[in-house]
Amino acid sequence: MVAVLVYVKIHIKLELGSEWEVNLAFVEAADCVSEPVNREPPSREAQILTLKNTSEFDVLVIGGGATGSGCALDAVTRGLKAALVERDDFSSGTSSRSTKLIHGGVRYLQKAIMKLDIEQYRMVKEALHERANLLEIAPHLSAPLPIMLPIYKWWQLPYYWVGIKLYDLVAGSNCLKSSYVLSKSRALEHFPMLQKDKLVGAIVYYDGDFDIYTS
Ligand SMILES: Cc1cc2nc3c(=O)[nH]c(=O)nc-3n(C[C@H](O)[C@H](O)[C@H](O)COP(=O)(O)OP(=O)(O)OC[C@H]3O[C@@H](n4cnc5c(N)ncnc54)[C@H](O)[C@@H]3O)c2cc1C
Repeated sequence: MVAVLVYVKIHIKLELGSEWEVNLAFVEAADCVSEPVNREPPSREAQILTLKNTSEFDVLVIGGGATGSGCALDAVTRGLKAALVERDDFSSGTSSRSTKLIHGGVRYLQKAIMKLDIEQYRMVKEALHERANLLEIAPHLSAPLPIMLPIYKWWQLPYYWVGIKLYDLVAGSNCLKSSYVLSKSRALEHFPMLQKDKLVGAIVYYDGDFDIYTS
């Protein structure tokens, strides 16, 4: 595939040192020189020059958010020559707002059940499968994350317990760890800032986290 490189304002923050930048350097070096590959990210000027001077790419990815970066990384690891252009800054869009959870979507499951929406259910099922997949293939970038849900009303305890148990059930063999109920005193041990007088207890369930380097 010939890449059509129209003018795109490229603004790269090199200190971020995204995987793409490193991979661009790798592809470049592997093509041009026989010396050991320099893993230092190339300068912004060098990267722009590479884009301008390379007449053909196998893949051109537009947008350096999570999706674009993932596509570029995937292409490069398959041996394709890839260019990634970003009009603002890498991960400056929606990707910078993410909570960095690898989740099936407890609230989507609630929606699936409340609205009897089979498509929502399938999405949760697939996302739970991908959650397990990601934790398995990228243990250096992700980890299971316990999430504690404080309960302030008695009726919420069975309501959320059933919901979260269904979440475990839908995950099936992909369930990271079984959810459980915490007493009021144990919940306060973990989070003393919770409203003591109103707290009934808490429910703990597991999702994945891909923010382990910054948290
Ligand atoms: C509050 C919030 C919390 C979230 N929490 C989670 C979570 O916990 N877990 C999770 O998995 N997902 C979460 N998401 C969803 C997730 O953040 C998005 O699905 C994901 O970031 C989308 O990535 P993207 O690359 O598709 O889009 P973006 O990150 O928006 O990237 C698109 C990029 O394309 C660039 N672009 C657009 N047009 C052009 C052009 N013509 N030329 C060059 N560049 C262009 C933009 O500048 C931008 O950088 C959350 C989202 C929000 C808003």
